[in-house]
Amino acid sequence: PSNEKILVWVGDEILTRDMATVSVFDSVVQGGDSVWEGLRIYKGKVFKLEEHLDRLFDSAKALAFNNVPTQDEVKEAIFKTLIMNGMFDNAHIRLSLTRGKKVTSGMSPGFNLYGCTLIVLAEWKPPVYDNTKGITLVTATTRRNSPNVRHTSSTKYVCPLCNVSYLISDFSCSRPCQNLDSKIHHNNLLNNILAKIEGNNANADDAIMLDKDGYVSETNATNIFLVKKGIVMTPHADYCLPGITRATVMDLVKKENLVLEERRISLSEFHTADEVWTTGTMGELSPVTKIDGRVVGDGTVGPVTRRLQNSFQKLTEGLGVPIPDYH
Ligand code: PMP
Repeated sequence: PSNEKILVWVGDEILTRDMATVSVFDSVVQGGDSVWEGLRIYKGKVFKLEEHLDRLFDSAKALAFNNVPTQDEVKEAIFKTLIMNGMFDNAHIRLSLTRGKKVTSGMSPGFNLYGCTLIVLAEWKPPVYDNTKGITLVTATTRRNSPNVRHTSSTKYVCPLCNVSYLISDFSCSRPCQNLDSKIHHNNLLNNILAKIEGNNANADDAIMLDKDGYVSETNATNIFLVKKGIVMTPHADYCLPGITRATVMDLVKKENLVLEERRISLSEFHTADEVWTTGTMGELSPVTKIDGRVVGDGTVGPVTRRLQNSFQKLTEGLGVPIPDYH
């Protein structure tokens, strides 16, 4: 089906695609000041709706949004948009909640007097990848945000013997310094976009992002798993988005009595893994067959990946919050 005629929920109205615009004074235009979720519709049901709404509202709270709509209002907007569009299977929703329209341009949330702007963009989107085949990844130089940064400063040191001056760096400050936490699902996506550009330039499908210490955090748009000698591993959630698909797959791994380790994982462990896959709402479980030019395992979709893909697919057929009025 085509997206030409889709209807989009903006603010509190349903508008045609051509009319679906936000104000140039909206916080999302002025500063990427917005939170979002991507959801999928399978067979008349919204998959993991409550989990996505919880993450959306937690993100809005962490960013101190005011006049946030209620969960019931957002749910109603989602259902109405789906029903108006007749979208009951294989559809995707891009849900955004911006801090809202400002009285004047500028950064301060004090300029937002009208409450949040809710956008429910339901679209027909093909699967991101052919998950029967593998994707390729490269490691980006752009690092994933870390919630904890420490300032370093430089001081000039003059050698008393030869009188040459040097800059000495790495004086860490002792105060905790806050940065944008990867647990907030915000629209400030420029680091991820820079990483994706690095992936595109290397003809890879996506790019691995490292955390501030050089361990793997996730890719520019998905979480990541590996299998080594039968053990399933995924980076701990200190520096990655706590993905809903990640949590679902971790549950499946436990239910299938496989050993799961959630810990710091270095890049070389990914380079030498038997199997690797990424997880995300749109791509589900996507097998990875090449990382930084190294073939993963034997270069085919591995048995653990296939087993979990099958279990995940069964979940999507059963679970989910039913769209009212759809029979
Ligand atoms: N990591 C990042 C950076 C993402 O943007 C996304 C998708 N929103 C994910 C991981 C996957 O999260 P989820 O499984 O909740 O879709």
